[in-house]
Amino acid sequence: MTAVGLELLPRSTVLTPGPGRKRSADELKAIAEEASRRFDDRGLYGNHTEIDPAEVLAWAGETFGDALAVACSMANTVVPEMTAPHAPGVDVLFLDTGYHFSETVGVRDALAATPGLNVVDVRSPASIAEHKAVLGDRPFETDPELCCRLRKVEPLDAALSGYEAWITGVRRVDTDHRAGAGIVEWDAKHGMVKINPLVAWTLERVHNYADEHGCLLNPLLDDGYPSIGCEPCTHRVEAGADPRSGRWAGSSKTECGIHL
Ligand code: SF4
Repeated sequence: MTAVGLELLPRSTVLTPGPGRKRSADELKAIAEEASRRFDDRGLYGNHTEIDPAEVLAWAGETFGDALAVACSMANTVVPEMTAPHAPGVDVLFLDTGYHFSETVGVRDALAATPGLNVVDVRSPASIAEHKAVLGDRPFETDPELCCRLRKVEPLDAALSGYEAWITGVRRVDTDHRAGAGIVEWDAKHGMVKINPLVAWTLERVHNYADEHGCLLNPLLDDGYPSIGCEPCTHRVEAGADPRSGRWAGSSKTECGIHL
């Protein structure tokens, strides 16, 4: 792809924050650092599992109100459903790349019907056809980094620009890069607070919580896909294998870029 070709594509742009307040980066950073001392110091030096995600989410709802968003991959709905009681009507950002499994879209649709949550589809302004016209027919194979940047990273960056804080399902055991993640962090890239309430949980614990509380689980989880991304880049894995090994299998890529 040429630089000229890239310039021809509609690109995600940073949104102008809405009429509501948005505190300065310095103010938000101070909030993140204070919360990190409150939650992470206890978690890092004590027993990680002692930090109750509900306590973190109650703080998040009180502190950020409608300036809070939840990012959800639709592998399960634990984080948005945990958040809803503490932030009624919270926006749940779904990265609608256009390459998702139908099962993932089904979970998105079911979550959108859940009271207390507002599912927001976050999309690239360019269609898949427009991207393929410039990038070739299989951009997820020829340049997955660029494909992820255009269909995930840039659209999410634009969507997040209207909020003060975002909640994710990041867990330390997911990847080496996430091993040092905190419960509350200053997200310098986005100039906002990042909250990872399940950071110390295992995948098994997430699924047990979903079973106990009636949260949705993507049916692909029982079909050999313990980690679920876009269909062209997600493969089944053998039982007992690294759950993330089916993501961009055969390449060194382990992250789509939204948590880098
Ligand atoms: S996961 Fe694959 S299909 Fe989805 S945006 Fe990234 S490269 Fe493209």
